[in-house]
Order: sequence, then C-alpha cells, then structure tokens
Amino acid sequence: MTVYLVGAGPGDPGLLTVKGAEVLGRADVVVYDRLVDPSLLDRAPADAERVYAGKAPGRNEMEQSEINALLVARGSAGHTVVRLKGGDPFVFGRGGEEAEALAAAAVPFEVVPGVTSAIGAPAYAGIPVTHRGVSTHFTVVTGHEDPAKGQQDVDWDALAKSGGTLVILMGAGRAGDIADRLVAGGLSRNTPVAAVRDGTRADQQTVRATLATIADAGVRAPAAIVVGEVAGLDLSWFESRPLFGRSVVVTRAREQASELRRRLEALGAEVIELPAIAIEPVSFDVPDLDRYRWLVFTSANGVAAFFDRGLAPAGLDVRALAGLRVAAIGPGIANALMAHGLQADLLPERFVAESLLEAFPAPGEHGERVLIARAEQARDVLPAGLSERGYEVDVLAVYRTVTATPDPKALERARAGAVDALTFTSSSTVTNLCDLLGAVPAPQPLVASIGPVTSKTAMERGLRVDVEATEHTIGGLVDALLRALGSPRHE
Ligand code: SAH
Repeated sequence: MTVYLVGAGPGDPGLLTVKGAEVLGRADVVVYDRLVDPSLLDRAPADAERVYAGKAPGRNEMEQSEINALLVARGSAGHTVVRLKGGDPFVFGRGGEEAEALAAAAVPFEVVPGVTSAIGAPAYAGIPVTHRGVSTHFTVVTGHEDPAKGQQDVDWDALAKSGGTLVILMGAGRAGDIADRLVAGGLSRNTPVAAVRDGTRADQQTVRATLATIADAGVRAPAAIVVGEVAGLDLSWFESRPLFGRSVVVTRAREQASELRRRLEALGAEVIELPAIAIEPVSFDVPDLDRYRWLVFTSANGVAAFFDRGLAPAGLDVRALAGLRVAAIGPGIANALMAHGLQADLLPERFVAESLLEAFPAPGEHGERVLIARAEQARDVLPAGLSERGYEVDVLAVYRTVTATPDPKALERARAGAVDALTFTSSSTVTNLCDLLGAVPAPQPLVASIGPVTSKTAMERGLRVDVEATEHTIGGLVDALLRALGSPRHE
C-alpha cells in the first residue's frame, strides 16, 4: 500500500536501519540504486520484483521522471514498494523529488532515514565531523553543480569563512578546483583535508592531504571529502583491523559459508565466496532407530538434513533418539545438535574421523549397530574402522554435495592469483575448487587449511599449504589465517 523511501546507508550492509530491514522484508517491489550493497536485496522476499534504477553498462540511467512514474504506478497498484537509496534518501538523493511526485499522486509514502555517507564515511575513517574544542558545526555541500543550471548556487567564499567542518559529496573530480575556491575565500592552504573513498566498504581508502595538496592526491569517486581541522584527526579503527585490505576466498558451500564469512569480515577482510560445492538434498527414509546403539554425525549439514528431511517428515522428533548414543566429529556439529536439544555423547579430541574412531568404545559382547548419517560421497575411514572394531555399520546418505557455479568475476580473480588467501575447510572443498580453477593460480595465494587431511589433499593437487589450523575448526582456521596475514601492528 505504501511507498517507503529507505536509506540503505553508505555501503556496509550492517548500516541499514532496523526499520529499513523490516520494510524490505515485506516488500513486493524494490527499486534500488547503483551504490546499494547487493546483499541488502537478499532481505526482500524471493518473489519480490527487483528494479534496478542505476546506471548499467551499455544502458543509460533511468530518468528521474521514469523512476517517479514507476513508484507512483506500483504504489497506486496497492503494492508495498521499497525505494532503496544509498546513504540517506533526503541528502542529495533526490528523495525529495520522489516524495513530491508521490504526494501529488496521493500515493501514501513514508521516509526511512539512513546513515548518510557525509557522516558515515568520515566515521569509518576515524574522523568525527564535530569535535569538542575543534569544530562546532558541519556543512554538507555538493561538489557537483548541476551544469544545466548554468549558475553557481554554492557560495564557496561564504563556506570558507564559516569555519567548522565542510563535507563535500560528489566532488571527487573537482577536488582541486574546490580547494582553490576555498583558499581564495580565505581558508589556509594548510587546512587538513581527508577524502574517504568507498567509505564503510571492504575497499575503503582514505587519502589525507591539505587544501594545497589535495589536487594531486589522487581523489577518486565515490568519495566524501572532509575539509577542516577534524580532518587532521586520525582515530583510525576500520582500516586498522587486522585483516583490513586482505581478500580471502571462502570455498565452502554457500549454505555453510556464513560463519567463516562473518568472522573474517569482522576482522576486516574482504571475503570472496567461491562456493565450489552446493548442498543438495537427497531423499531417504529414517530406518528403525531402535536397532541402533550409536548415531554418528560427520557434518552440520548432516544434522540439518537428518532432522529436517528425515525425522520431521516422518512425524518424529528428538524423542525418537532417546535410546541412542550420539557422536559428533567436531564442535560445530555438536552445536548443531545442541540447537536440536541434543547433547553429543562423544566428541573426539581432534576433530577428524581417525580421532573419533580412537575415542569410540568397544562394542558390547553381542555386537552393536552404528548408523552414520552423512554425505553421499565421503571417506571410508569411519565405516571401515568401526566395522573392524566389531560394529555393524549402516551408512545413511542424507545429502549430497555437487559442484556449484560461482560468480565468473570472482573466479577470474582467483585464477589470476589476485587474492591474498584461499581457505579450505575440507578435502572436498580442495577437490572442487581445484577443478574450478583448472590450474594452480600463479602467483599462488596463501593457502590455509583446516587440518591435516585437507592439507594432504591440497598438496596432492599441487598446492603449497602455508598454514594449517591447530584446532580443526572454523575458529582455528581463522586464527591460523590471522597469524599468517594479520598486519604486524596488531601483534
Ligand atoms: N544520499 C547519499 C548521497 C548521494 S550523492 C548519502 O546520503 O550518502 C552520491 C555521493 O555520495 C557520491 O558522489 C559520494 O560523494 C557520496 N558517497 C556515497 N557513498 C559513499 C561512500 N561509500 N563513501 C564515500 N562517499 C560516498
């Protein structure tokens, strides 16, 4: 029913407001701009209409009048429309014009403010736009006069005399001219300037200069240019996180990548997902569980599939496992079990099949049955080893891994070795990624492996394994990567 003019923030998808997320989650139509992070669109329902209103290669930007007409048409049709705009919709976002068009057509609209790049980008560069004793006010001004106007609306002389902080948007291409105007207006040539490009994104870059030197400092768009004494402050935090500026390939299936991705991003890394494998469901029936003494899980995917696609459709729940002992190969799996209300009875010391085998008690006198719920293709170590120990072993395939089709640009980048690290969380990720890459990238990026079995597979594929996790978990892998790539100033 309503058209929401929503600010998406300057780039970091975490800067969307709670209200923005809420309306996106129930949108019928999303009309979005070029600078909006693509991951935000995933918050809209899968079947929502997505309309790109920005510039695309070989195609002109939608005219503002076309956008206005689209919002009016979809809004009048009774849809919930989200107009997702970079930064704040009412700060140089032409949101005002869209609101005017909606008001004129009597289409109900609401405005959901966003974090403007004028404040957000400097904040991520460690620059407060006001600072006690330094700057009592800030002015946000456009550096890009509309050429069609044929006049200069911005009074640079007055701004030069007003003191305080000046934040210039859309001025990257004219930074030198603007600096000249401000110096002509009376500002000192030594006034600090900071240009924050791609602020709040993984590739944020801060150029620091003065009004005298900014012209040659290589300022590139999109940038927020801060002029004034606060631009001399350097309370750097975002760019000084240990993995900032490092690009790391995550090769897990998309379904599994989120934890590794989250942890690496929290440390400042740019994460490139190259899902070499995807998880595919297989159909299976849960066997008569009363016949088993043990139920073994070797992956969190196995846990999810067993409960969601096995027990639940059969009308069963966790009580069906009451008589069984449950083994997990690692803590991630134990956590997945915990989420289903199950405490693992057996968790090996090292998180590999061999270690689980060692930890397994001997079967009772009359033999005992073990059910292993796992992927269709997996190593034989566990079933073979348990049989040898005297168990009767049944393997239940609860999902399958298949080769995924990754983003071609990301793949090209990895093939060219234009990333800092490749991470491997299992042998199958090694096999699948190597198949995707074709040859070992040259120069070979740093390779980080979760454990000895994975490392061995990597070496067999001709990779040099640079670091191996001490603890064979995602956390262990991240620690290993941090030791190898983390910038020394954080040690
Ligand atoms: N409504 C937006 C501004 C749109 S005008 C807002 O409130 O942020 C586009 C200009 O915003 C760009 O030319 C650039 O100056 C600035 N900008 C947008 N995203 C930015 C970012 N991530 N880092 C630095 N500047 C950015």
